[in-house]
Amino acid sequence: MGRRVNVFKPEEQFPGNVYRTFDCRHVRTAHFVGLHYRPEYFQAHYRGIATCGSVWACPVCASVIQERRRLELEHLVQWADDNGLQAIMVTFTFPHTGFDTLTELLDRQADAFLRFRRGSPFTRLKQSLGFEGLVRSLEVTHGLRNGWHPHTHELWLVDASVGQACRARLVELWERACIAAGLLDPADQAKVEAFRLHSVDVRLNASSGDYLAKQDSSRKWGITHEVAKATSKAGKAKGCHPHEFLVRKAPGDEARYFEYLEAMKGRRQLFWSPGLKGRCGLDDVDDQVIAEEASDEADLLGNLVQDEWDFIRSKRVVAQVLDAAEVGGWELVMRYLKRLGYRDRPPPEFPLP
Ligand SMILES: [Zn+2]
Repeated sequence: MGRRVNVFKPEEQFPGNVYRTFDCRHVRTAHFVGLHYRPEYFQAHYRGIATCGSVWACPVCASVIQERRRLELEHLVQWADDNGLQAIMVTFTFPHTGFDTLTELLDRQADAFLRFRRGSPFTRLKQSLGFEGLVRSLEVTHGLRNGWHPHTHELWLVDASVGQACRARLVELWERACIAAGLLDPADQAKVEAFRLHSVDVRLNASSGDYLAKQDSSRKWGITHEVAKATSKAGKAKGCHPHEFLVRKAPGDEARYFEYLEAMKGRRQLFWSPGLKGRCGLDDVDDQVIAEEASDEADLLGNLVQDEWDFIRSKRVVAQVLDAAEVGGWELVMRYLKRLGYRDRPPPEFPLP
C-alpha cells in the first residue's frame, strides 16, 4: 500500500491517510497499547492502536466484523423459526468474462437489482411468498479464466409453506433484470439457457436450529457462515477471494487487489431490510465499533509501553504476542519478548497529575 501511494500520490507523506488499512493494528493511538483477553472466546487483542474497520480491504478487521455479524444472523434465523417463518437462501449470479472490470460488473449488478426489485411483479412475488424481509451479502471472487465474479447470497424470511416452485418466478424476474442491465445477451441462446439453469439457486428451510448447529460444528460453514463470512471465505471452486491475492502473489495479483479496493469503496457488504434488525431485537452496531472490539467485555492483561510496542512491530511478532497472551497471559508475553532479545523493560510510566 505504501509503494502504491508513492506511485500515485507522491505528495502524500503518510500512506495511512490514503489507505487506512496501512495503519491498521500497527500505529499507536494511545499512550499505552493495552493487551486484553476475552475468556469466553479464549482470545487476546490489542487496544490503543489504529483499527481500519474495513470489511473489504482488511483481512483482520473483516474476520472480527464477520464473526459478530454471523452471531446476528444466527439470532435472526432463530427469531424467524420462533415466529413461524422460513429462512431460505437465494443466490444470484450472472455471466461474466475476464475482460470485464470489477467496477463495471458491480455497477451493472446494482442496476440489475434495482430493476429486479422495482415495480409490481416483484411486489406480487413478495406477497405470494409472505416475504418479511431479507439480509443480502455481497461477495466477490476472482477466477483466472473468467475474471471477477460478483454475486450475492440473500437470506429471505418467507412463509413456512414456500417451496422450490418459487425459483421459476425468481429466474424469470432476474433474467429480465440482467438483460435490461446489459449483463445477459438475449440473442445468445446457449448463454440464456445456462443462465436459466445456474443464475438463481434457492435453498429451503435454512431456519432449523439443528441444521445450524450441525453445520457449525462440522467442517462445512453453516448458512450464516456463508452469508457473513463472504469476504473471508477461501472459495476454491468459484475462484479465489481477493484476500488470497495477498498470500498467493501471482503475477497481476497486486494490481488486482488494488482494483478490488477501488471498486469496493463505499459498497455495503451486508444489507438488512430496513427495520428488520429492530423487529428481531438486535441493535445496529457499526463495523468500526465491532472491529475495535471496544464494545465487548475484556480483561486487561497489561499495558505495553512504547518501546515494547516498537520492538514487537520491528520483530514482526504482532500476532505471535497475542498467541503468547492466549496461552500464558502477561507473564508469557514478557518471557517471549525477552527471548526475542528485548532487554529493558523501563519502569512503568504514570501520567503526571
Ligand atoms: Zn483493519
